[in-house]
Amino acid sequence: MAARVIAQQRKFWRTAGEFGEGWAEASGKLRLAAEEGADWPAVGDWVALELHGASSPAMIQEVLPRRSKFVRKVAGKKIAEQVMAANVDVALLVCALDADFSPRRVERYLAQCWESGAKPVIVLNKADACDCARERVDEMKPVALGVEVCAVSAKTGEGFGELNEFLKSGQTVVLLGSSGVGKSTITNRLLGEAVQEVREVRENDSKGRHTTTARELFRLPCGALLMDTPGMREFQLWDAEEGVSQTFTDIDELAERCRFGDCHHEGEPGCAVSAAVDEGTLDQARLENWQKLLREQEFLRRKVDPEARADQKEQWKRMHRAVRNMYQQREKDGGKR
Ligand code: GDP
Ligand code: ZN
Repeated sequence: MAARVIAQQRKFWRTAGEFGEGWAEASGKLRLAAEEGADWPAVGDWVALELHGASSPAMIQEVLPRRSKFVRKVAGKKIAEQVMAANVDVALLVCALDADFSPRRVERYLAQCWESGAKPVIVLNKADACDCARERVDEMKPVALGVEVCAVSAKTGEGFGELNEFLKSGQTVVLLGSSGVGKSTITNRLLGEAVQEVREVRENDSKGRHTTTARELFRLPCGALLMDTPGMREFQLWDAEEGVSQTFTDIDELAERCRFGDCHHEGEPGCAVSAAVDEGTLDQARLENWQKLLREQEFLRRKVDPEARADQKEQWKRMHRAVRNMYQQREKDGGKR
């Protein structure tokens, strides 16, 4: 039968389904597959579960295909993917409207979110502590590129009506954002009175002792499921090349109009990106952040993938050759650009 993973403790998964809730183990077949590189079940996963009554543990037979996943790559003998969260529908990217307000950080979270397959919504929290929330929302527009932006205050409840429209019953939601932006406070407000009951699993262990476990996926009063896993709290941008390009479609489109196919947008002749910065239609800080995120991607790729390192060397060689040719061409042209 189908069940959903709502918490994980090492090689035990808490599953919920029509039968109720219970801990499950991985079947022999699943273990074998995982040892050969398949994913272990993660919080949010739908799994095929075989129940064995009260006497023996339920077994997870397989992980059903995922709609979305937040992954982390772990370097080892082989590069392995670790799924931090599965089947997230909506990611609320939280940023605070205080001194920490940073469109650049939102870009980072957007990249991560697009990469996962979840739909992003930008949430600007602490509206009560800011006189210019509306201006900030407008400031976010060229960063959001069509993604919804809403200003809220977890302290006063302002804006939560609008926020709730993004939290449809049955959808799985996750809060992303740096520490201190108000994720816990938002969670508590969304939970209302129900805080403890919905967040904890209480049961008796085999010796009859009382135990509690934190649920990592729980139902909000509005019917949406909120995912709050330790892994996601520390989630870092990782392997999100696709996501970076989806976040910066405006720059990607400009870059297609650069004269050179491998333009670095650093003052090369015929660079459409630099021209947009000069005209004031593209924010210099946004361009720099894009370049930074791409460099980071490249760095991470080389760290986990020695082959990419060799590729990179080859690329540098090609680039040096191209630059040399460009200078030679310029000299021929009599030093004109
Ligand atoms: P987290 O680290 O993202 O979970 O952030 P917290 O929820 O722990 O909040 C960090 C701090 O910001 C706490 O002192 C909260 O009381 C405060 N805070 C959270 N939301 C708001 C808000 O809407 N307005 C104001 N003024 N403070 C808030
Ligand atoms: Zn360019």
